[in-house]
Amino acid sequence: MTNSAQYDIASIRNDFPILGRQIWNKPLVYLDNGASTQHPKQVIEAVKDLYENHYSNVHRGVHTLSQESTNLYDDARVKVRGFIHAACVHEVIFTRGTTESINLVAQSYARPLLKEGDEILITHMEHHSNIVPWQIVCEQTGAKLKVVPINDAGELELGHFLELLNEKTKLVSVVHVSNALGTVNPVKEIIDAAHGMDIPVLVDGAQAVPHMPVDVQALDADFYAFSGHKIYGPTGVGVLYGKEKLLKAMPPYQGGGDMILSVSFEGTTYNQLPYKFEAGTPNIAGVVGLGAALDYVNKIGLGAIAAHEHGLLMYATSKLQEIDGLRIIGEAEQKAGLISFVLDAVHPHDIGTMLDAEGVAVRAGHHCAQPVMERYGVPATARASFAMYNTYQEIDVLAEAIKKTINMFK
Ligand code: PLP
Repeated sequence: MTNSAQYDIASIRNDFPILGRQIWNKPLVYLDNGASTQHPKQVIEAVKDLYENHYSNVHRGVHTLSQESTNLYDDARVKVRGFIHAACVHEVIFTRGTTESINLVAQSYARPLLKEGDEILITHMEHHSNIVPWQIVCEQTGAKLKVVPINDAGELELGHFLELLNEKTKLVSVVHVSNALGTVNPVKEIIDAAHGMDIPVLVDGAQAVPHMPVDVQALDADFYAFSGHKIYGPTGVGVLYGKEKLLKAMPPYQGGGDMILSVSFEGTTYNQLPYKFEAGTPNIAGVVGLGAALDYVNKIGLGAIAAHEHGLLMYATSKLQEIDGLRIIGEAEQKAGLISFVLDAVHPHDIGTMLDAEGVAVRAGHHCAQPVMERYGVPATARASFAMYNTYQEIDVLAEAIKKTINMFK
Protein backbone atom coordinates (compact mmCIF):
# COMPACT_ATOMS: atom_id res chain seq x y z
CA MET A 1 0.00 0.00 0.00
CA THR A 2 1.06 3.56 -0.56
CA ASN A 3 -0.15 6.80 0.90
CA SER A 4 -2.62 8.75 -1.24
CA ALA A 5 -0.94 11.16 -3.68
CA GLN A 6 -3.13 14.12 -2.68
CA TYR A 7 -2.41 13.64 0.99
CA ASP A 8 1.09 15.05 1.43
CA ILE A 9 2.21 12.78 4.23
CA ALA A 10 5.88 13.72 3.83
CA SER A 11 5.16 17.38 4.38
CA ILE A 12 2.84 16.61 7.32
CA ARG A 13 5.51 14.44 8.95
CA ASN A 14 8.03 17.16 8.38
CA ASP A 15 5.92 19.47 10.55
CA PHE A 16 6.26 17.12 13.56
CA PRO A 17 9.86 17.41 14.82
CA ILE A 18 9.59 14.45 17.21
CA LEU A 19 8.85 12.04 14.36
CA GLY A 20 12.50 12.35 13.36
CA ARG A 21 13.59 10.69 16.61
CA GLN A 22 15.30 7.34 16.89
CA ILE A 23 14.27 4.95 19.67
CA TRP A 24 16.82 2.22 20.43
CA ASN A 25 18.49 3.16 17.12
CA LYS A 26 15.30 2.56 15.17
CA PRO A 27 13.07 5.21 13.61
CA LEU A 28 10.23 6.10 15.96
CA VAL A 29 6.87 4.61 14.95
CA TYR A 30 4.43 6.52 17.12
CA LEU A 31 1.16 4.61 17.48
CA ASP A 32 0.06 5.88 20.90
CA ASN A 33 -2.04 8.73 19.58
CA GLY A 34 -5.14 7.68 21.51
CA ALA A 35 -3.25 8.52 24.71
CA SER A 36 -1.77 11.75 23.36
CA THR A 37 -0.82 13.05 19.93
CA GLN A 38 2.46 14.74 19.00
CA HIS A 39 2.77 18.44 18.17
CA PRO A 40 3.45 20.15 14.86
CA LYS A 41 6.01 22.94 14.89
CA GLN A 42 3.14 25.40 14.27
CA VAL A 43 1.78 24.60 17.77
CA ILE A 44 5.21 24.68 19.39
CA GLU A 45 5.93 28.01 17.65
CA ALA A 46 2.62 29.53 18.75
CA VAL A 47 3.36 28.70 22.39
CA LYS A 48 6.97 29.92 22.05
CA ASP A 49 5.81 33.14 20.37
CA LEU A 50 3.34 33.76 23.19
CA TYR A 51 6.01 33.40 25.85
CA GLU A 52 8.69 35.28 23.90
CA ASN A 53 6.59 38.17 22.66
CA HIS A 54 3.11 38.56 24.12
CA TYR A 55 2.80 36.83 27.47
CA SER A 56 1.01 38.31 30.45
CA ASN A 57 -2.07 37.39 32.46
CA VAL A 58 -5.36 37.72 30.60
CA HIS A 59 -8.52 39.76 31.22
CA ARG A 60 -6.98 41.86 33.98
CA GLY A 61 -4.50 44.38 32.66
CA VAL A 62 -4.85 47.47 30.54
CA HIS A 63 -1.22 47.25 29.50
CA THR A 64 -0.25 46.12 26.01
CA LEU A 65 1.02 42.64 26.84
CA SER A 66 -2.08 41.78 28.83
CA GLN A 67 -4.22 42.92 25.94
CA GLU A 68 -2.18 40.93 23.43
CA SER A 69 -2.41 37.80 25.58
CA THR A 70 -6.13 38.36 26.05
CA ASN A 71 -6.63 38.73 22.30
CA LEU A 72 -4.74 35.49 21.60
CA TYR A 73 -6.72 33.70 24.32
CA ASP A 74 -10.05 35.01 23.05
CA ASP A 75 -9.12 34.23 19.42
CA ALA A 76 -8.63 30.59 20.40
CA ARG A 77 -12.18 30.46 21.74
CA VAL A 78 -13.43 31.78 18.41
CA LYS A 79 -11.45 29.01 16.66
CA VAL A 80 -12.95 26.33 18.91
CA ARG A 81 -16.43 27.66 18.25
CA GLY A 82 -15.89 27.37 14.51
CA PHE A 83 -14.24 23.97 14.80
CA ILE A 84 -17.18 22.33 16.58
CA HIS A 85 -19.83 24.62 15.05
CA ALA A 86 -21.15 25.95 18.36
CA ALA A 87 -23.78 28.66 17.98
CA CYS A 88 -21.78 31.21 19.97
CA VAL A 89 -18.37 31.67 21.58
CA HIS A 90 -19.65 31.83 25.12
CA GLU A 91 -20.85 28.23 24.80
CA VAL A 92 -17.16 27.24 24.74
CA ILE A 93 -15.69 26.79 28.24
CA PHE A 94 -11.98 26.13 28.60
CA THR A 95 -11.17 23.41 31.11
CA ARG A 96 -8.17 21.23 31.92
CA GLY A 97 -9.44 18.52 29.59
CA THR A 98 -12.25 16.06 28.96
CA THR A 99 -12.06 14.80 32.54
CA GLU A 100 -12.61 18.21 34.04
CA SER A 101 -15.35 19.00 31.51
CA ILE A 102 -17.31 15.92 32.57
CA ASN A 103 -16.75 16.61 36.28
CA LEU A 104 -18.01 20.15 35.72
CA VAL A 105 -21.27 18.87 34.25
CA ALA A 106 -21.61 16.22 36.95
CA GLN A 107 -21.20 18.73 39.77
CA SER A 108 -22.72 21.84 38.30
CA TYR A 109 -25.53 20.48 36.12
CA ALA A 110 -26.39 17.09 37.59
CA ARG A 111 -25.77 17.44 41.32
CA PRO A 112 -28.27 20.22 42.01
CA LEU A 113 -30.90 18.41 39.95
CA LEU A 114 -30.55 14.80 41.08
CA LYS A 115 -32.54 13.23 43.87
CA GLU A 116 -32.77 9.72 45.27
CA GLY A 117 -33.93 7.20 42.68
CA ASP A 118 -33.03 9.35 39.63
CA GLU A 119 -30.81 7.75 37.01
CA ILE A 120 -27.78 8.66 34.93
CA LEU A 121 -27.31 6.51 31.85
CA ILE A 122 -23.85 5.69 30.51
CA THR A 123 -22.47 2.78 28.46
CA HIS A 124 -20.23 -0.20 29.12
CA MET A 125 -17.50 1.25 26.88
CA GLU A 126 -16.87 4.49 28.80
CA HIS A 127 -13.46 5.76 29.81
CA HIS A 128 -13.14 5.99 33.61
CA SER A 129 -13.54 9.75 33.28
CA ASN A 130 -17.08 9.19 32.07
CA ILE A 131 -17.85 6.70 34.85
CA VAL A 132 -16.31 7.94 38.09
CA PRO A 133 -17.70 11.52 38.07
CA TRP A 134 -21.18 9.98 37.78
CA GLN A 135 -20.48 7.50 40.57
CA ILE A 136 -19.41 10.40 42.78
CA VAL A 137 -22.53 12.43 42.01
CA CYS A 138 -24.69 9.35 42.55
CA GLU A 139 -23.10 8.88 45.99
CA GLN A 140 -23.77 12.54 46.76
CA THR A 141 -27.42 12.47 45.71
CA GLY A 142 -28.71 8.90 45.96
CA ALA A 143 -29.15 8.67 42.18
CA LYS A 144 -28.32 5.42 40.34
CA LEU A 145 -25.90 4.76 37.53
CA LYS A 146 -27.33 2.64 34.71
CA VAL A 147 -25.15 1.06 32.04
CA VAL A 148 -26.02 0.22 28.43
CA PRO A 149 -24.42 -3.13 27.50
CA ILE A 150 -22.24 -3.77 24.43
CA ASN A 151 -22.17 -6.77 22.09
CA ASP A 152 -19.19 -8.99 21.25
CA ALA A 153 -18.15 -6.75 18.38
CA GLY A 154 -17.96 -3.81 20.78
CA GLU A 155 -21.11 -2.04 19.59
CA LEU A 156 -23.75 -0.53 21.83
CA GLU A 157 -26.90 -2.59 22.28
CA LEU A 158 -29.25 0.14 21.09
CA GLY A 159 -32.37 -1.83 21.97
CA HIS A 160 -31.17 -1.99 25.57
CA PHE A 161 -30.39 1.70 25.48
CA LEU A 162 -33.98 2.48 24.51
CA GLU A 163 -35.29 0.15 27.22
CA LEU A 164 -33.12 1.82 29.86
CA LEU A 165 -34.30 5.34 28.97
CA ASN A 166 -37.18 6.23 31.25
CA GLU A 167 -38.72 9.08 33.21
CA LYS A 168 -36.13 8.61 36.00
CA THR A 169 -33.23 9.20 33.55
CA LYS A 170 -31.92 12.71 34.13
CA LEU A 171 -28.89 12.63 31.81
CA VAL A 172 -27.29 10.37 29.21
CA SER A 173 -23.50 10.53 28.99
CA VAL A 174 -21.95 8.61 26.14
CA VAL A 175 -18.59 8.32 24.46
CA HIS A 176 -18.49 9.31 20.79
CA VAL A 177 -15.52 7.07 19.94
CA SER A 178 -14.33 4.40 22.37
CA ASN A 179 -10.65 4.71 23.26
CA ALA A 180 -10.42 1.00 24.09
CA LEU A 181 -12.36 -0.48 21.14
CA GLY A 182 -12.40 2.20 18.46
CA THR A 183 -16.19 1.93 18.14
CA VAL A 184 -17.87 5.02 16.72
CA ASN A 185 -21.21 5.33 18.48
CA PRO A 186 -24.39 6.54 16.73
CA VAL A 187 -24.53 9.61 18.94
CA LYS A 188 -27.07 11.44 16.77
CA GLU A 189 -29.50 8.54 17.13
CA ILE A 190 -28.83 8.40 20.87
CA ILE A 191 -29.37 12.15 21.27
CA ASP A 192 -32.59 12.08 19.24
CA ALA A 193 -33.98 9.21 21.31
CA ALA A 194 -33.06 10.91 24.61
CA HIS A 195 -34.46 14.26 23.48
CA GLY A 196 -37.68 12.47 22.59
CA MET A 197 -38.02 12.07 26.37
CA ASP A 198 -36.58 15.52 27.22
CA ILE A 199 -33.36 14.01 28.52
CA PRO A 200 -30.14 15.94 27.85
CA VAL A 201 -27.03 14.22 26.51
CA LEU A 202 -23.35 14.77 27.19
CA VAL A 203 -20.97 13.42 24.54
CA ASP A 204 -17.39 12.52 25.46
CA GLY A 205 -15.66 13.52 22.25
CA ALA A 206 -12.04 13.01 23.38
CA GLN A 207 -11.37 10.42 20.67
CA ALA A 208 -13.76 11.83 18.06
CA VAL A 209 -12.81 15.47 17.57
CA PRO A 210 -9.27 14.68 16.29
CA HIS A 211 -10.52 12.18 13.74
CA MET A 212 -13.83 13.32 12.25
CA PRO A 213 -15.75 16.54 11.68
CA VAL A 214 -18.00 17.28 14.66
CA ASP A 215 -20.93 19.68 14.51
CA VAL A 216 -22.46 20.07 17.95
CA GLN A 217 -25.51 21.87 16.56
CA ALA A 218 -26.20 19.23 13.90
CA LEU A 219 -25.82 16.56 16.61
CA ASP A 220 -27.95 18.69 18.93
CA ALA A 221 -25.60 17.66 21.78
CA ASP A 222 -26.34 19.40 25.06
CA PHE A 223 -22.76 19.08 26.26
CA TYR A 224 -19.67 17.99 24.33
CA ALA A 225 -16.23 17.47 25.90
CA PHE A 226 -12.75 17.07 24.44
CA SER A 227 -9.04 17.47 25.27
CA GLY A 228 -6.36 19.56 23.57
CA HIS A 229 -3.58 17.01 23.88
CA LYS A 230 -5.39 14.42 21.76
CA ILE A 231 -5.75 16.86 18.87
CA TYR A 232 -2.10 17.93 18.46
CA GLY A 233 -2.43 20.64 21.11
CA PRO A 234 -0.87 21.08 24.57
CA THR A 235 -1.75 19.11 27.69
CA GLY A 236 -3.74 20.66 30.50
CA VAL A 237 -6.33 22.28 28.27
CA GLY A 238 -9.68 21.07 27.02
CA VAL A 239 -13.15 22.20 26.16
CA LEU A 240 -16.63 21.87 27.48
CA TYR A 241 -19.25 22.90 24.98
CA GLY A 242 -22.67 23.44 26.51
CA LYS A 243 -25.91 24.87 25.20
CA GLU A 244 -26.27 28.44 26.38
CA LYS A 245 -29.61 27.80 28.05
CA LEU A 246 -28.18 24.98 30.18
CA LEU A 247 -24.91 26.74 31.03
CA LYS A 248 -26.73 29.92 32.04
CA ALA A 249 -28.88 28.02 34.52
CA MET A 250 -25.96 26.13 36.08
CA PRO A 251 -24.16 27.39 39.21
CA PRO A 252 -20.38 27.95 39.00
CA TYR A 253 -18.19 24.87 39.34
CA GLN A 254 -15.36 26.59 41.18
CA GLY A 255 -15.07 29.98 42.86
CA GLY A 256 -12.23 32.46 42.47
CA GLY A 257 -10.93 35.27 40.31
CA ASP A 258 -12.28 35.95 36.82
CA MET A 259 -15.56 34.12 37.42
CA ILE A 260 -17.08 37.07 39.32
CA LEU A 261 -18.49 40.47 38.47
CA SER A 262 -18.31 41.76 42.03
CA VAL A 263 -17.42 40.32 45.43
CA SER A 264 -18.29 41.54 48.88
CA PHE A 265 -18.61 39.70 52.17
CA GLU A 266 -22.36 39.98 51.84
CA GLY A 267 -22.40 38.14 48.53
CA THR A 268 -20.91 37.72 45.08
CA THR A 269 -22.29 38.34 41.61
CA TYR A 270 -21.06 35.80 39.12
CA ASN A 271 -19.59 36.72 35.77
CA GLN A 272 -21.34 35.99 32.51
CA LEU A 273 -20.64 32.99 30.30
CA PRO A 274 -18.08 31.62 29.64
CA TYR A 275 -16.09 33.25 32.46
CA LYS A 276 -18.50 32.01 35.14
CA PHE A 277 -16.91 28.58 34.62
CA GLU A 278 -13.29 29.69 34.28
CA ALA A 279 -12.17 30.51 37.82
CA GLY A 280 -8.59 31.63 38.31
CA THR A 281 -5.79 32.23 35.84
CA PRO A 282 -6.44 29.87 32.94
CA ASN A 283 -3.96 27.80 30.97
CA ILE A 284 -3.18 30.69 28.64
CA ALA A 285 -0.38 28.99 26.69
CA GLY A 286 -2.43 25.78 26.48
CA VAL A 287 -5.40 27.63 25.03
CA VAL A 288 -3.23 29.50 22.53
CA GLY A 289 -1.55 26.23 21.54
CA LEU A 290 -4.94 24.57 21.13
CA GLY A 291 -6.01 27.37 18.79
CA ALA A 292 -2.88 26.78 16.70
CA ALA A 293 -3.55 23.02 16.68
CA LEU A 294 -7.08 23.57 15.36
CA ASP A 295 -5.70 25.87 12.65
CA TYR A 296 -3.29 23.11 11.69
CA VAL A 297 -5.99 20.43 11.58
CA ASN A 298 -8.18 22.76 9.49
CA LYS A 299 -5.30 23.33 7.09
CA ILE A 300 -4.90 19.59 6.46
CA GLY A 301 -8.69 19.06 6.55
CA LEU A 302 -10.57 16.69 8.83
CA GLY A 303 -12.12 14.95 5.84
CA ALA A 304 -8.68 14.13 4.43
CA ILE A 305 -7.39 13.10 7.86
CA ALA A 306 -10.38 10.81 8.42
CA ALA A 307 -9.93 9.20 4.98
CA HIS A 308 -6.21 8.66 5.58
CA GLU A 309 -6.75 7.16 9.04
CA HIS A 310 -9.52 4.92 7.71
CA GLY A 311 -7.12 3.60 5.08
CA LEU A 312 -4.56 2.90 7.80
CA LEU A 313 -7.20 1.12 9.91
CA MET A 314 -8.26 -1.13 7.03
CA TYR A 315 -4.67 -1.96 6.13
CA ALA A 316 -3.61 -2.58 9.74
CA THR A 317 -6.68 -4.72 10.42
CA SER A 318 -5.95 -7.01 7.49
CA LYS A 319 -2.22 -7.19 8.36
CA LEU A 320 -2.87 -7.99 12.02
CA GLN A 321 -5.61 -10.50 11.22
CA GLU A 322 -3.03 -12.53 9.29
CA ILE A 323 -0.95 -13.02 12.45
CA ASP A 324 -1.52 -16.37 14.17
CA GLY A 325 -2.41 -16.07 17.85
CA LEU A 326 -3.46 -12.40 17.61
CA ARG A 327 -6.99 -11.45 18.57
CA ILE A 328 -8.45 -8.03 17.85
CA ILE A 329 -10.69 -6.71 20.62
CA GLY A 330 -13.33 -4.44 19.12
CA GLU A 331 -14.64 -5.19 15.66
CA ALA A 332 -17.47 -2.72 15.34
CA GLU A 333 -18.65 -1.93 11.84
CA GLN A 334 -18.13 1.79 12.50
CA LYS A 335 -14.61 2.10 13.83
CA ALA A 336 -12.10 4.91 14.18
CA GLY A 337 -8.36 4.43 13.65
CA LEU A 338 -7.29 2.26 16.52
CA ILE A 339 -6.75 -1.42 17.09
CA SER A 340 -6.77 -3.09 20.50
CA PHE A 341 -5.33 -6.58 20.45
CA VAL A 342 -4.07 -9.43 22.59
CA LEU A 343 -1.64 -12.24 21.84
CA ASP A 344 -2.19 -15.80 23.02
CA ALA A 345 1.26 -16.22 24.47
CA VAL A 346 2.38 -12.73 25.47
CA HIS A 347 1.08 -10.35 28.14
CA PRO A 348 0.20 -6.89 26.73
CA HIS A 349 2.86 -5.23 28.89
CA ASP A 350 5.49 -7.50 27.37
CA ILE A 351 4.13 -6.67 23.92
CA GLY A 352 4.55 -2.97 24.74
CA THR A 353 8.14 -3.49 25.90
CA MET A 354 9.09 -5.68 22.94
CA LEU A 355 7.59 -3.27 20.43
CA ASP A 356 9.40 -0.36 22.07
CA ALA A 357 12.67 -2.16 21.39
CA GLU A 358 11.72 -1.97 17.69
CA GLY A 359 10.98 1.77 17.98
CA VAL A 360 7.22 1.18 17.99
CA ALA A 361 5.22 3.06 20.66
CA VAL A 362 1.90 1.43 21.50
CA ARG A 363 -0.12 1.56 24.72
CA ALA A 364 -0.46 -1.53 26.88
CA GLY A 365 -2.92 -1.64 29.75
CA HIS A 366 -6.58 -1.25 30.53
CA HIS A 367 -6.75 2.17 28.80
CA CYS A 368 -8.74 3.58 31.73
CA ALA A 369 -11.62 1.38 30.61
CA GLN A 370 -11.51 -1.52 33.04
CA PRO A 371 -15.17 -2.48 32.47
CA VAL A 372 -14.32 -3.05 28.79
CA MET A 373 -11.44 -5.35 29.75
CA GLU A 374 -13.73 -7.24 32.11
CA ARG A 375 -16.38 -7.53 29.32
CA TYR A 376 -13.85 -9.31 27.08
CA GLY A 377 -12.22 -11.31 29.86
CA VAL A 378 -8.75 -9.82 29.39
CA PRO A 379 -6.64 -7.96 31.96
CA ALA A 380 -5.33 -5.54 29.39
CA THR A 381 -4.77 -5.08 25.66
CA ALA A 382 -2.08 -3.59 23.47
CA ARG A 383 -3.43 -0.69 21.45
CA ALA A 384 -2.12 0.86 18.25
CA SER A 385 -3.88 4.16 17.57
CA PHE A 386 -3.35 6.21 14.43
CA ALA A 387 -3.01 9.89 13.67
CA MET A 388 -2.74 12.03 10.56
CA TYR A 389 1.03 11.47 10.30
CA ASN A 390 1.13 7.67 10.41
CA THR A 391 2.06 5.72 7.29
CA TYR A 392 1.37 2.34 5.75
CA GLN A 393 5.08 1.57 6.10
CA GLU A 394 4.74 2.09 9.85
CA ILE A 395 1.95 -0.49 9.93
CA ASP A 396 4.33 -2.93 8.24
CA VAL A 397 6.92 -2.22 10.95
CA LEU A 398 4.25 -2.82 13.62
CA ALA A 399 3.21 -6.14 12.08
CA GLU A 400 6.82 -7.33 11.78
CA ALA A 401 7.56 -6.28 15.38
CA ILE A 402 4.53 -8.24 16.61
CA LYS A 403 5.66 -11.35 14.71
CA LYS A 404 9.15 -11.00 16.18
CA THR A 405 7.60 -10.70 19.67
CA ILE A 406 5.59 -13.88 19.17
CA ASN A 407 8.70 -15.75 18.01
CA MET A 408 10.70 -14.57 21.01
CA PHE A 409 8.03 -15.84 23.41
CA LYS A 410 7.62 -19.22 21.71
N1 PLP B 1 -12.58 10.03 27.33
C1 PLP B 1 -11.94 9.27 26.45
C2 PLP B 1 -12.71 8.47 25.45
C3 PLP B 1 -10.55 9.23 26.45
O1 PLP B 1 -9.90 8.48 25.58
C4 PLP B 1 -9.85 9.99 27.42
C5 PLP B 1 -8.38 9.91 27.50
O2 PLP B 1 -7.78 8.94 27.14
C6 PLP B 1 -10.58 10.77 28.30
C7 PLP B 1 -11.94 10.77 28.24
C8 PLP B 1 -9.90 11.61 29.35
O3 PLP B 1 -9.18 12.63 28.74
P1 PLP B 1 -8.23 13.56 29.60
O4 PLP B 1 -7.31 12.65 30.35
O5 PLP B 1 -7.51 14.38 28.56
O6 PLP B 1 -9.08 14.39 30.48
